[in-house]
Amino acid sequence: METVVMKFGGTSVATPEKIIGVAERAISEKEKGNRVVIVVSAMGKTTDTLQALADEITANPSKREMDMLLATGEQVTISLLAMAFKTLGHEALSFTGWQAGIETESVPRNARIEHIHTERLEQALSEGFFCVVAGFQGVDRAGNITTLGRGGSDTTAVALAAALNARKCDIYTDVDGVYTSDPRYVNGARKLEQISYDEMLELANLGAGVLHPRAVEFAKNNNVPLSVRASYSDEAGTIIQEVVTVEKNLIVRGVAFEPGIARVTVTYKKPFNGSLANIFTKLAEHHIDVDIIVQSITNDFPPSVSFSIKQDHMDEVKRVLDTYQSDIGFVSTDFEVGLSKVSIVGSGMVSNPGVAAQMFDILRRQDIPVKMVSTSEIKVSVVVPENDMHKSANALHEEYGLE
Ligand code: ADP
Ligand code: ASP
Ligand code: MG
Repeated sequence: METVVMKFGGTSVATPEKIIGVAERAISEKEKGNRVVIVVSAMGKTTDTLQALADEITANPSKREMDMLLATGEQVTISLLAMAFKTLGHEALSFTGWQAGIETESVPRNARIEHIHTERLEQALSEGFFCVVAGFQGVDRAGNITTLGRGGSDTTAVALAAALNARKCDIYTDVDGVYTSDPRYVNGARKLEQISYDEMLELANLGAGVLHPRAVEFAKNNNVPLSVRASYSDEAGTIIQEVVTVEKNLIVRGVAFEPGIARVTVTYKKPFNGSLANIFTKLAEHHIDVDIIVQSITNDFPPSVSFSIKQDHMDEVKRVLDTYQSDIGFVSTDFEVGLSKVSIVGSGMVSNPGVAAQMFDILRRQDIPVKMVSTSEIKVSVVVPENDMHKSANALHEEYGLE
């Protein structure tokens, strides 16, 4: 018998009725002759509500306790779903992350899965149970509950699919596939039948919230057949795989965007004889992701380096910079908030110079100021004011003919 992994996100398990619907859907998958693992998220907006509760207690909660708190959301769903199976006359067992053997590194709130001890799930599956697993959580070697970062249930599902050698992993959600851009904000966004792991990875990393980036990474590294599809209909979704046949010969395949970006500028004394590495080593030691980096060393101005971070990390960045000012050796800092990142993605860009120039031209015609730029073989990202984020995405989507 083959194993399939089905993952249902928050909206898809938001009510008891929807949870019963999930059980029914999984039962029909089993009736096709499969062993079924179901990974679920917390119901509806539970994770946000839990976060808000913590905010009422403290502005700076312990990360370990945040993991403990947030992990409870998924635990509610797994028990209810296991009960739903029972009511429908089927045997199911619920598993928290640690019960499912999901071992992670010790990085609270953003842990990576390091290993999955599959024995317990294998046993339950071989005995005919539906295995219902809490997404988004695991346990580190010291026995602390960890979480995988917001949206991390996708990663639980794909990692389990890889570890159990599943035939496929289906991500059921509130859209019926991966679109050329977020259909909630971009007019004319179009569903893709297929997309490559690499393009999907870029889109996910650049803010397309439909899949957690690490889920795509796992799928690519382990060749897990992955699809995104609707939890509310039977329509075929989007297949994510190594090689795809592109429907149209488009250079750009998708537009992604991410709000809540801040730009930090650190200025040094002239002449600059230090190393830029100091600052980024310190930030990395504190698990702060730095995105676009622009260094400026000219004859006329004091040397400086600007980099973009998530606005949520700003207080921590300020703390780290204050603490290590003399080690890093800078003179002043400047923080600009209210920014966003808008990106175009497509593997056809490699062979098409001038894509970036065209992108700047489109944005200039819309009077949108570009604050930072970064390019790779398959994407161009710009930092623009957050107020212009949707306008930029819509303009790029239209100009690149994605509709
Ligand atoms: P779930 O709770 O099921 O994990 P998410 O909210 O995490 O669902 O992801 C689904 C949402 O992702 C959609 O409602 C859509 O607004 C958003 N989204 C962003 N970019 C895209 C895209 N390129 N294609 C489809 N959906 C996208
Ligand atoms: N419940 C978590 C979140 O809201 C994980 C997930 O849904 O994937 O981020
Ligand atoms: Mg999600």
